[in-house]
Amino acid sequence: MKKILSVLLILIFWLLPVFAQKASFEGIKQRQSPQNPRLGFVIHGGAGVISRANLTPEKEAEYRKKLEEAVLAGYKALQDGKTSLDAVETAIRIMEDSPLFNAGKGAVFTNDGKNELDSSIMDGKTLAAGAVAGLRHVKNPITLARAVMEKSEHVMMVGDGAEKFAKEMKIELVPEKYFWTAERWDSLQKILKEEKEAKDKKKGTVSQNEPENFLMKNPVYAQMTETEKLPPNRFGTVGAIALDKNGNLAAGTSTGGMTNKKYGRVGDAPIIGAGTFANNNTCAVSATGWGEYFIRLGVARDISAMMEYRALPVQQAADAEIKKVGDLGGDGGVIAMDKFGNIGISFNSEGMYRAFINSEGKPVVEIYKD
Ligand code: ASP
Repeated sequence: MKKILSVLLILIFWLLPVFAQKASFEGIKQRQSPQNPRLGFVIHGGAGVISRANLTPEKEAEYRKKLEEAVLAGYKALQDGKTSLDAVETAIRIMEDSPLFNAGKGAVFTNDGKNELDSSIMDGKTLAAGAVAGLRHVKNPITLARAVMEKSEHVMMVGDGAEKFAKEMKIELVPEKYFWTAERWDSLQKILKEEKEAKDKKKGTVSQNEPENFLMKNPVYAQMTETEKLPPNRFGTVGAIALDKNGNLAAGTSTGGMTNKKYGRVGDAPIIGAGTFANNNTCAVSATGWGEYFIRLGVARDISAMMEYRALPVQQAADAEIKKVGDLGGDGGVIAMDKFGNIGISFNSEGMYRAFINSEGKPVVEIYKD
């Protein structure tokens, strides 16, 4: 009798996770509505130190306006019957052309004062993908990433070779000065100055009474949280994810990387599986944040894997992934969407520029945590 009981107990413990997983799958299925195929569209404009204290009402209005324009343009593409890839490219191009974001015009500067742009795109239907990195003259890197996916036999092209391919594809090239903006240039100068001061201080060349650096002289500094005090060398990357009328998912990301990055550094944005991933069976993801951490965790693919192997709903998978990023010491955020149009947004930074189309087909723009 005892033996039978213990065998039964073992069986129950063994089967419990299987049933739990099945129940969770059913949960996802219930949200599907084949009679009413749902279009889905979400964008982000980067995560980082964005708080009400450091964003003027005018600047905030500018961001909101541009995010709304981009999310509506992508959604319109979907309403017009275009593909999820078209919608992603459309919205990202708008943000690349705006100096507000760290992508295309307005990209941040490398340590040696250049702009080096990265981008990628992925088709959830075919798992085809295209990525580019280290571009210096391509006006819209997302369009080149898409050309790599659709018109070359490769997935990733970098530097001069990628630009040679852009020329062959007749994709618009611009002089390096096109990407220059005063705000990004000042950010680089500020960081370089702080770095130098920190170095000098270490060498003992700064007197004891002198404040640590000019940032600390600012009265606002004393009221800032520890996160706000971090150097403003990131973020502002842009990304988009879409679900079209045929149920196909797509994801894309575009960035100038991180201010003061060493020449040649490549972040997560152009790495398929880190900054961008799409699979019709699971989800589409675009990430933003401290790229080194996102690469090491394979963030976008890991979210998909959690949905595939553990049947986690998209929001839970996104939250679990951002927790992993935080536990490792990184920060940033993700936008994700499953094949039914359910949205998952998660970030551990002060804010993340983001916008999506809600279930009534209306645009919603958000910036802060609350
Ligand atoms: N993830 C980007 C990078 O590391 C930066 C960002 O998202 O702002 O290049």
